[in-house]
Amino acid sequence: MTASDLPALNIAELRDLLGRREVSPRAVLEALQSRIAEIDPQIDAYLSIDFDAALEEAARADVTLPLGGVPIAIKDIISVAGQPCTCASKILRNYRAPYDATVVRKLKAAGAIPFGKTNMDEFAMGSSTENSSVKPTRNPWDISRVSGGSSGGSAAAVAADAAFGALGTDTGGSIRQPASLSGVVGFKPSYGRVSRFGLVAFASSFDQAGPLTKTVSDAALLMNAMAGHDPLDSTCLNEAVPDYTANLGRDLRGIRLGLAQEYMIAGVDPKVRAAVDAAVAHFESLGAEIVAVSLPHTEYAVATYYILATAEASANLARFDGVRYGHRAENTRNLFEHYGRTREEGFGPEVKRRIILGTYVLSSGYYEAYYARAQKVRELVRQDFARAFEQVDALVSPTSPVPAFPLGERSVDPLQMYLADIFTIAANLAGICGISLPCGFAQTEDGAQLPIGLQLLGAALDEARILQIAHAYEQSTDWHKKRPPLVANVQRPTRKE
Ligand code: GLN
Repeated sequence: MTASDLPALNIAELRDLLGRREVSPRAVLEALQSRIAEIDPQIDAYLSIDFDAALEEAARADVTLPLGGVPIAIKDIISVAGQPCTCASKILRNYRAPYDATVVRKLKAAGAIPFGKTNMDEFAMGSSTENSSVKPTRNPWDISRVSGGSSGGSAAAVAADAAFGALGTDTGGSIRQPASLSGVVGFKPSYGRVSRFGLVAFASSFDQAGPLTKTVSDAALLMNAMAGHDPLDSTCLNEAVPDYTANLGRDLRGIRLGLAQEYMIAGVDPKVRAAVDAAVAHFESLGAEIVAVSLPHTEYAVATYYILATAEASANLARFDGVRYGHRAENTRNLFEHYGRTREEGFGPEVKRRIILGTYVLSSGYYEAYYARAQKVRELVRQDFARAFEQVDALVSPTSPVPAFPLGERSVDPLQMYLADIFTIAANLAGICGISLPCGFAQTEDGAQLPIGLQLLGAALDEARILQIAHAYEQSTDWHKKRPPLVANVQRPTRKE
């Protein structure tokens, strides 16, 4: 194996080499650095990278630890001490995190090296990474298309072998959807399974951090390091953390998988539908039983989410006032003008739209009609899932109704973008766990192969079982072995407008 082959490894393979001391953490970082230098100019997955700090950590790395010497990319909404944490927003352009998020602290304690921050939709609001104030991330399978979002930088970096694994956050699908569009594994833990301390809050009753990886077992390895109680986050559950790798390799006999009739909706791309149907047939051939279930409140999920998440966002983003953090408007005459101009200059259009929507649904006179009712519907959605999980171990669906779409195609129509969250969003309303993994490809007219993602949803805290089911599928198919056709050091074509 030569150094240039290293970035193609997954975390488990890399750990084998590091543990046997066949390669040093420094050599791994240097190989990754040259891969990023060759590939990232084509996909724009990273916002900042601190290789000098990473090399210092590599020199100290304990390769006997579970993730000893493994570089991990971190979505730029998660604090890494000393590194920028901009949320891809102008308002935090000059902000550096003064401390580590608990997930980062835990990854470091397991030996991982967080070396760089990945691009995202501003404050994680979006599904395409086009809402980044810096640049859109491009899909490694077709650089004229989006990588998904909001954790699009993390997904693209992993897909392009420009990261061994990455962290993302998922408030309404932002780990699973970019994983689906970019052809990698994305895992959303149950609400409360992973600490949110040190994450910049978008919608606090939805947000969860989780891994984006090349394989299901890599997701389990990262979850082993990330999960668990944290006294610094009062919503983080005080429940024992199982070994998420323990069930991997167990067969699917006796496993019951649910197909929700409400997910058989129009608007799903026929190629996505066909790939998911084939995956369901494959599960049957592996011994799983397929059961029809009902999630009767599905049609309200998107509206409910966009009321509650915007309400929480409007409250959370009130702290960006030009006094305490980041961007500060100049030459203002009084405090109100200072707040107003700072926020006018600092926030992008989608963030402003969310703040306005959220303020509206919380305002007196509308609170009962919108926010209070949405809370009640949220409970009904939660009960839908609770009833379904009395019958089945997991639910199967597409992750996204469509494969990666061209840059610019949907950013003009926010409602169309919101509606495509239909399969991912309900899991966040209910607080359950879910995974997206590759299950096929859709060929475009230009001959590009676009990945299709399969979503498995599991009951709250049933992470180990979801990983087991996903792993059985992955290991009996070849989708995860396919790599995007990126060639090193190619200048990306300038886009024709
Ligand atoms: N696409 C959804 C939104 O725009 C989900 C985002 C997320 O999970 N952070 O809100």
